[in-house]
Amino acid sequence: VKYDDKHRISRGDIVVGRILGEGFFGEVHEGVYKSPSGERTRVAIKTCKDCSAEVKEKFLSEADLMKNLDHPHIVRLIGVIEVDPVWIVMELYEHGELGNYLVEQQYILTTAQLTQYCLQICKALAYLEGLNMVHRDIAVRNVLVASAECVKLGDFGLSRYIDEQEYYKASVSRLPIKWMAPESINFRRFTSASDVWMFGVCVWEIFSMAQQPFFWLENGQVINQLESGVRLQKPQTCPPTIYGLLTRCWAYEPHSRPTFGELVRSFSEIHKMELEQETD
Ligand code: ATP
Repeated sequence: VKYDDKHRISRGDIVVGRILGEGFFGEVHEGVYKSPSGERTRVAIKTCKDCSAEVKEKFLSEADLMKNLDHPHIVRLIGVIEVDPVWIVMELYEHGELGNYLVEQQYILTTAQLTQYCLQICKALAYLEGLNMVHRDIAVRNVLVASAECVKLGDFGLSRYIDEQEYYKASVSRLPIKWMAPESINFRRFTSASDVWMFGVCVWEIFSMAQQPFFWLENGQVINQLESGVRLQKPQTCPPTIYGLLTRCWAYEPHSRPTFGELVRSFSEIHKMELEQETD
């Protein structure tokens, strides 16, 4: 993996702080990065615990994808330190995971705010769709909260470019079954249309204040339910217009689902109407 100048940073410019959490590869720390121009930014530093050459390659593949992304609602990569101990440095979003934030703020968040989060995630995914990238792990645990008005899609650990092949055939076993489209469960087939299905599940999580989808089922039971036509029900606080979109995201046939471009237009309109209702 080679890094362009924009993402080459030196360890001496980073002050490491407390642990934020445990990532798949190792601890994630809070810290401060001082850029060559002297500007200070709060950062999250991902570390890699048992970093053999093979593990290191997997660990760095997420940063490798992220370095080409530039969107207001996608987690921003600041840089990578390639010499051991390997670090991935990202912009810090101090409110943490959207899932936890929804639980903490459930009595304060308005429908308009929740719809805005959906719209922002949808815009990030429309951007990825335009780059032929599939995310494959869209869930509130992978969205970070920058402020009450701004969320960022993160965790590109499972993301892939689908360039030439029209879909990505996954080989990983650590898959989020309860978020996955039927063709992903059955054939490990991942496309922008399967991302649309997962986005629908993520919207369901947002309006359910981060309940786990299908928590009443075992992973092994999910596909049978989906194939007999069962879908997640409308959360109480979810507007019927939004639930109408979700049922389209959960069409069994991938080509019957809306695209992210369409979804952005629909969510924008719904968000606008909710803001007007709030000020009435
Ligand atoms: P997994 O694959 O299990 O999700 P991971 O390797 O992707 O793990 P993360 O979940 O991204 O690791 O990070 C671990 C913890 O660090 C999480 O609790 C997350 O909230 C926190 N964290 C990661 N990145 C950031 C960030 N940019 N800003 C704030 N907190 C972050």
